[in-house]
Amino acid sequence: MAKKEISEGRKLLYYAGMAVSGVGILLFLSVFVSFMNPERMLANGNMVSFMNRPIIGILMIAIGNGMRTVAARGVAGSGIILDPKKAREDLSPWSSMAGGMIKDAMDETEIHTKKEIVKVRCRNCSELNDEDAKYCKNCGEKI
Ligand SMILES: [Zn+2]
Repeated sequence: MAKKEISEGRKLLYYAGMAVSGVGILLFLSVFVSFMNPERMLANGNMVSFMNRPIIGILMIAIGNGMRTVAARGVAGSGIILDPKKAREDLSPWSSMAGGMIKDAMDETEIHTKKEIVKVRCRNCSELNDEDAKYCKNCGEKI
C-alpha cells in the first residue's frame, strides 16, 4: 500500500526546516549589519560571539536544508536509513508525480500526432473519398 500523500509530520518537519534555515540566514546576514554599524559591534564587545554568528548561521542553514530533504523524501528516501522498500514508499508521492507528468506529456503528444484525415475529391462527381480509396464510393470512377 503506497502512500500518495506526504504525511502531516513530514510537512511539519519541512516547515520547521524552512524556519531553521531562515533563522540561520538572518543570523548570517546580521554579521553584515553589524559591520555597517561598527560602534554597536564594539559596544557589544564580544568578538568571539560575533565570529561565531556566521558559523552558527551556516550550520543552521545546513541543518534546515537537511530537515527539509528528510521531510520531502522521508527517512529512507533521503538515504538516512537503508531500506529500499521503505524508500520507494517514501518517494511514492514524487514518483507518482513524475508518472503523472509523463502521462501529461503523452496526452499532449497524442493531440499533436493525431492523424489528420485527408480526403480526396473525385474528379468526376466531386464526392469526397478517403485518400487511400482506389475508386470513388459514389460513382465508381477510378481515383
Ligand atoms: Zn465520383
